[in-house]
Amino acid sequence: MTRPPRHLADLGLAERRQAVAELGEREFRADQLSRHYFGRYTDSPEDMTDLPAAARSALAQQLLPRLLTQERSLACDDGATRKMLWRLFDGALVESVLMKYPDRVTMCVSSQAGCGMGCPFCATGQAGLTRNLSTAEIVAQVVAGERALRTPAAATPAPSGDRVSNVVFMGMGEPLANYRSVIAAVRRLTDPVPGGLGISQRSVTVSTIGLVPAIARLAQEGLSVTLAVSLHAPDDEARDELVPVNRHWKVAEVLSAAWDYAAATGRRVSIEYALIKDINDQPWRADLLGSLLAGHLVHVNLIPLNPTPGSKWTASLPGVQEEFVSRIAAHGVAVTVRDTRGREIDGACGQLAARATPPRTRRTAAPPSRSP
Ligand code: SAH
Ligand code: SF4
Repeated sequence: MTRPPRHLADLGLAERRQAVAELGEREFRADQLSRHYFGRYTDSPEDMTDLPAAARSALAQQLLPRLLTQERSLACDDGATRKMLWRLFDGALVESVLMKYPDRVTMCVSSQAGCGMGCPFCATGQAGLTRNLSTAEIVAQVVAGERALRTPAAATPAPSGDRVSNVVFMGMGEPLANYRSVIAAVRRLTDPVPGGLGISQRSVTVSTIGLVPAIARLAQEGLSVTLAVSLHAPDDEARDELVPVNRHWKVAEVLSAAWDYAAATGRRVSIEYALIKDINDQPWRADLLGSLLAGHLVHVNLIPLNPTPGSKWTASLPGVQEEFVSRIAAHGVAVTVRDTRGREIDGACGQLAARATPPRTRRTAAPPSRSP
């Protein structure tokens, strides 16, 4: 399979300097190019007036190839949410979602085209895996978000400022199944300019379906990113059906890896749980979940199921959801239900936006957060 073209964002600063030298240019040109891309979000040679005209286009062509072509861009929630569909160099399609809040701007990115994990309730899972994204293809989604915030036509200005403050790996794909590219992308997103975009590590969330060895590896990276674990059931019987990888790594192993992650990083782990009517929303499952999580550095995010086309499953009834929340809270575990902003025009600004929307607290009985 052909790989995406090499891009500056695939390389660390030292490698960029080497790449520039190999193109016959002085090494400091790598820093100049990096400042354009990571500091000003531009890859157009005409913007690079600090570079000699003769060198600009060659350097841009070699190190700043266009990786994403916009296929569609849809605004909803009065312009506060923007879903972008990208075509990659080989025709693969991926989505990203930009969400503006009063206090932050969150970009939800894809880490793979499709996903091979096969969760039956998930639209991405139903399509299977096309391929892993390169580091630069992931970073480019965030750079595109930065550009979108600066486009005058971008509808509502962000009261929270004009920078992407948070990145969540909750778009298409299983980030930990594309481990190397995702970790390098996290470094590019969080290294200060000119190395990267300078987003705080604590504002980056990596969501996983529960690949235990990869969670253990992530805990050793020395990163302080937030880990979100998509649990969806507190017992192996239900989880085996909802999450096929549970046949390899059981609930107990996944939670144990999550607690090790919290211990290694001091970061509160987020447990994602899509509430599905009559499948995983019984009161006893809420009690079991609460008892498994009680006393740990954890927060539960309940997500009303966003049914995929043709799905046999639907979201839990409101009363059932409320009871689920109370039972978890009764164990002293912090729990919120995600706001489903973006759903009213589901077909247009659909699932990705809905499921990546950060939580709005409906009810919490949280002990004060122990996160630093
Ligand atoms: N593969 C990773 C990250 C992408 S999915 C993971 O599964 O964690 C981001 C979140 O959306 C996960 O918690 C996922 O389980 C959830 N999700 C997927 N399909 C959904 C649906 N139809 N309704 C509600 N949440 C869904
Ligand atoms: Fe993949 Fe996550 Fe969807 Fe499961 S829920 S199929 S892991 S994207």
